[in-house]
Amino acid sequence: MPGKKDYYEILGVSRDADQKEIKKAYRKLAKKHHPDMNDGEEKASEKFKEISEAYEILSDPDKRKRYDQYGHSGINEDDFNFDDFARGGFGGFEDIFDMFFGGGMGGMNRRRGPQRGRDLQYKLKITFKEAAFGTKKKITIPRTEECPKCDGTGAETKSDIKTCSKCNGQGQIRVTQQTPFGQFAQTKRCDRCGGSGKIIDNPCSNCGGTGKVKRRRKLTINIPAGVNTGSKLRMANEGEAGEKGASDGDLYIILQVESHQLFDRKGDDIYCEVPINFVQAILGDEIKVPTLDGKVKFNIPNGTQPGTTFRLKNKGINHLNRIGKGDQYIKAKVIIPKNLSKEQKDLLINFAEISGEEINPEKKGFFNKVKDAFGAL
Ligand SMILES: [Zn+2]
Ligand SMILES: [Zn+2]
Repeated sequence: MPGKKDYYEILGVSRDADQKEIKKAYRKLAKKHHPDMNDGEEKASEKFKEISEAYEILSDPDKRKRYDQYGHSGINEDDFNFDDFARGGFGGFEDIFDMFFGGGMGGMNRRRGPQRGRDLQYKLKITFKEAAFGTKKKITIPRTEECPKCDGTGAETKSDIKTCSKCNGQGQIRVTQQTPFGQFAQTKRCDRCGGSGKIIDNPCSNCGGTGKVKRRRKLTINIPAGVNTGSKLRMANEGEAGEKGASDGDLYIILQVESHQLFDRKGDDIYCEVPINFVQAILGDEIKVPTLDGKVKFNIPNGTQPGTTFRLKNKGINHLNRIGKGDQYIKAKVIIPKNLSKEQKDLLINFAEISGEEINPEKKGFFNKVKDAFGAL
């Protein structure tokens, strides 16, 4: 029995398939693999189950979004629309399928599937520029993998694997349960063999019978341009090893982006301040402005007021997973000079007089503020 495969793979659609495509793919596959069309063949009903489960999630925008973001760990039993009575505790989800497709369909060989491996999380810090342009990172993650000596069986040799006598190798035992809807036969995981149907006489000396070993695994991660703090990257099947026959869990890389000395980021736009002197503000000037791609020339228009913000189109950060970029905003920070020489002060007083503006240190009002800003005139 296969483990948790990717839902998109199961339906054979691309990750950006629309609802119509998903429905079409589901209908086609469901028809092909429906147990009624396959004489109750076990493989077909497993396949049908898989298809139904994938469709259940991908046809619902909310569940699909969660699946896209968190993979199988974002989905739980409640996401499947089966009646409550069918769920009765652990494994209810499988039991309802047994009721539909198992039972009379030669289901005696049926067995709970092996458990899929756990998902792992890894927090990774990257720089502002790496987030803006994308990068490759090498990381090492400790994770459990299948024991190479016993091939994940947990037994020293093949002959050490015996059939469980409690469940006769079925991995599950049948119990009858009374519910408000009547009596239902339920199957539960066998407690002696843990659902594997097998008992190991002589455990593997390498893994102690667990079938798994700890390994430090080196991975190279492709980080796309435009990620931000909190972005999650899913690496399918790079999580913990699953039980024999089941797929491995997924690895989630959770990104933290460091701040930048010059730039602030809001969405895909970036912001910075550019200092200009008051003469440049008044007369205008060509200045050099830092951008993520290096310095660019920019014309400050004459009469620029302090705090004026200018936009540099497409100088922001790449949109994640789509074409285009944000913008860069630059804010003019007008620097008022301090510690002027006598000559400089005289020129400014002269300037004020020509402009018809009276300079009177005693006078309250605007020029007091000028005085404060310039120091004692
Ligand atoms: Zn082993
Ligand atoms: Zn058993």
